[in-house]
Amino acid sequence: MKFISTRGGSGAVSIRQAIEAGLASDGGLFVPGVFPSFNASDFNPGQSHADIASILLAPFFADDPTLSEKLPEICARAFDFVIPLTPVPGRRGDFILELFHGPTSAFKDVGARFLAACLEVMGENDSSEKRTVLVATSGDTGGAVASAFFEKKNIDVVILYPEGRISQRQEKQLCAWGGNINAFAVNGSFDDCQRIVKAALSDPKPDRHWLSANSINLGRILPQMVYYAHAAVALSKPEQNPPGFIIPSGNLGNSLACVWAKKLGFEIGPIHLAFNANRGVVDYLQDGQPSKLSTVSTLANAMDVSKPSNLERLQMLYPKLEALQAQVTASTVSDAEIRNEIKVSQKEWGQVLCPHSAIAAVARKHLVADSVAKASRWVLVATAHPAKFESIVEPLVGHSIAIPEKLAPILKQESKMVRIGNQDADFQTALAAQKIKK
Ligand SMILES: *Cc1c(COP(=O)(O)O)cnc(C)c1O
Repeated sequence: MKFISTRGGSGAVSIRQAIEAGLASDGGLFVPGVFPSFNASDFNPGQSHADIASILLAPFFADDPTLSEKLPEICARAFDFVIPLTPVPGRRGDFILELFHGPTSAFKDVGARFLAACLEVMGENDSSEKRTVLVATSGDTGGAVASAFFEKKNIDVVILYPEGRISQRQEKQLCAWGGNINAFAVNGSFDDCQRIVKAALSDPKPDRHWLSANSINLGRILPQMVYYAHAAVALSKPEQNPPGFIIPSGNLGNSLACVWAKKLGFEIGPIHLAFNANRGVVDYLQDGQPSKLSTVSTLANAMDVSKPSNLERLQMLYPKLEALQAQVTASTVSDAEIRNEIKVSQKEWGQVLCPHSAIAAVARKHLVADSVAKASRWVLVATAHPAKFESIVEPLVGHSIAIPEKLAPILKQESKMVRIGNQDADFQTALAAQKIKK
């Protein structure tokens, strides 16, 4: 399969090129040239995530003999933790899909680990080549990428994050590593970080193999389809409508993966995008006008995005607004509602939610009768472990939250980072000073 740019201005590329480039040469994002189709009979509910991943992702990797051959191994390395799908007690027809049992306790571990495994395989035969992975993070991406790439041979990682706008534990997950992991604290917003990364990537440097590990990279989006496919297979019942999914959304990478999984033929009902106060996409879906709102800080900081990159991919798939509206609905949730839901869900069903996951639970209650009618079952997607946001969550639930076993050792490390301004030039200067190996 070949991959094409959302902007149509660059030629079709292979999976390897798409992963290496991150961004297409015309500034667009890569999307599959065709969507293969699958049938329910291609899968069975007893299969693991790694098994489903190997089958589901095979067509996307088919024209690269090395990656293709190693795909089962790559999938096994990426999907090496549980992703439980369980009914919500007392709320019939509602399920919770917990994506946060990986090493950094957020769903971004899936994409980051898959991408790292791909790059490791790609680098096996050309050890002379150094790659620098560049990533802007609104909180959780950087930690997942750092953990996935730490001590990987011939790869340096550069992380940009908005200083003071992520939780202390999130920051620790970016800055705890040292070695091949370089963290930059930007005096600005996530959108500034993302802009700097895009500028660096679209300014080709012959002496450097830049690579984006943001959710714009196909190597992260593709594996995220797997947990939606797995859940759809698990919940498939001939006499019932397919389940709907409610997805806490920021840069739209996670929800795009759900839309793509549905496009591949998996039995997925309505897809609802749940946003925090950054409501640009909610407005856009109403009137088709690009949002001019700037980013606001919320309790669900990993979703503090005002110009989601992956909107372009959704628009490419559904160029007409009405078509897009038929595929996804969206709503916005306030910080007050997040706080309330964290208390309510703990009281009503004993689950402590992180602020992002709480947004899905609030959005479930906001769903209008119309979309409820289309699905009798809803999957609430839980994107991070509450222990990452203990300063918000603990006072609300009135007790401390045990730190996941995998997270604890990271939190004990000393922080290493460099502070920079929010201009492209600040980044270039800092890079030169860091002497990131070329
Ligand atoms: C990144 C993130 C999101 C938003 O996901 P997108 O793919 O950017 O839409 C939601 N919740 C958590 C915990 C995250 O880390």
